[in-house]
Amino acid sequence: MHTLFDPPEPRRVSPGEYPMWDRALALLNRDLAVTLPEQEPLQLLAVPPYDADEPENVYVALASGEWHGNYLEPDPADDPASALAIVADAAQETVTELLWQAWPLCAEHGLGMHPREADEQLSWWCAGERSTRGPAHVLATVGALDALVHPPRPPRKRRRAS
Ligand SMILES: [Zn+2]
Repeated sequence: MHTLFDPPEPRRVSPGEYPMWDRALALLNRDLAVTLPEQEPLQLLAVPPYDADEPENVYVALASGEWHGNYLEPDPADDPASALAIVADAAQETVTELLWQAWPLCAEHGLGMHPREADEQLSWWCAGERSTRGPAHVLATVGALDALVHPPRPPRKRRRAS
């Protein structure tokens, strides 16, 4: 929707302006790099407020400068974990809406995953069923999808007598 005024020009956020969001976005960019290697890293863009009393709004945007969805809600608790959850949601919204694809995908099920807390770490959660481990599963913590593409060592399997 356009108003009578020109929309304020977004500006690229410099590293260190929003350190917690920088760190969170770096994790998301790691996951982006391994899942969509043709994509340039996501960036933080700030849009100046219409009203000088208001804070600027920061968005997670594609390298092209486009974004989709809400701005990053400033976190009163200043908590890195919730900052990561907020940035993960925004990154996912921008990527899925602007690139028209679910992201990130669970390679096993071909389903789009969602960020969820698991063992106190934000993780990519897939609704697909696994016969051995019941319905739904967590694929990796957010920022660690590269471990699946380049595993540091083969996973050890524990066999249990049944
Ligand atoms: Zn899955």
